[in-house]
Amino acid sequence: MSAYAKELEIAQLAVQRAVILTKRVFHEKAKGTASKDDKSPVTIGDFGAQALIISALKANFPDDEIVAEEEAASLRTDDNLRETIWDLVKATQLSDSPTEAALGGAIADEEAMLTMIDHGSSKGGAKGRIWAIDPIDGTKGFLRGGQYAVCLALMVDGEVQVGVLGCPNLPVDDAAPLTGGMESGQTDEGGRGVLFSAVLGGGATSRPLTTGTLAAQKSIAMRPLTDMTAATFCESVEAGHSAHGDQAEIAKKLGITNPSVRMDSQAKYASIARGAGDIYLRLPVNATYQEKIWDHAAGDLIVREAGGAVTDIHGKRLDFTVGRTLANNKGVVAAPAGVHSQVLTVVQEVLNSK
Ligand code: AMP
Ligand code: MG
Repeated sequence: MSAYAKELEIAQLAVQRAVILTKRVFHEKAKGTASKDDKSPVTIGDFGAQALIISALKANFPDDEIVAEEEAASLRTDDNLRETIWDLVKATQLSDSPTEAALGGAIADEEAMLTMIDHGSSKGGAKGRIWAIDPIDGTKGFLRGGQYAVCLALMVDGEVQVGVLGCPNLPVDDAAPLTGGMESGQTDEGGRGVLFSAVLGGGATSRPLTTGTLAAQKSIAMRPLTDMTAATFCESVEAGHSAHGDQAEIAKKLGITNPSVRMDSQAKYASIARGAGDIYLRLPVNATYQEKIWDHAAGDLIVREAGGAVTDIHGKRLDFTVGRTLANNKGVVAAPAGVHSQVLTVVQEVLNSK
């Protein structure tokens, strides 16, 4: 068996099952059966997906640590919210399927669900096996019907070994070109829904998301970028998450003529890894924000295994050894390995000229 084969298998099945839950929440919201509070679908989906993923990890790898975004404190006092989430978690667990058995079986009750959620409180760090979970990355995209991702990565002694991204609203076709308008109106029906994976040293793959066993995988690779002027670059939709103005200036200096493609979540990493786009720029909007490890661990590995280089704005690799945040890094620059230094040079020129 190749390295981390079991971890990869469980991670993919766990993410795929969590996506069943997030899709259900989205469609209930769209039908108007969820609460009118616009924030609640995100909260429900976040907690539910986190509980399901952690229960799969704890059943298979009981000694591993977990860094996850959510904690259950607010659920213990909010009976309505807790019951809504528990009903969804119960409905998503398929107690008679072989997939469910591989994931360790059903969560017993509400209290066990809260315990699962709270297992995500590891401080992270440089030693041992630590999983990073973002149950719904790109919450704004999730609400808009744009892009979002269910994200899971395993770090061993601070090095990402396994990365998995479930992207329910990306096209299955790796060659589908990126277009504008990915911020909203992307339904998960008809040819959408992709599971991306990578193991360090083992390459990167994509496969359609399913509701049962894993579909057949295809290898993915970044597009060889011979003509920078033809490049497509990706950035956040939210202006508060990265500096759109600086990014436009960098693109212009590089001679890029295509408009940026804006999308939420680590779907940006996935999209450049499969060669649908080329470059992902995430320049800081403020000096104090520290990026969260769960927003980058899976995407960083998937891009590097697809032939890319990922650094911060200073050219340093993302450093997952220092806790729950990337305290040693600022921003993200991801590009095909052959042109990364050219992109980084322009990033630094633009930042230094300010
Ligand atoms: P994206 O969808 O790529 O814009 O990124 C979504 C992630 O941005 C969320 O998961 C947040 O953790 C993160 N985020 C929140 N505030 C900031 C900020 N000021 N700068 C960068 N990222 C942020
Ligand atoms: Mg996130």
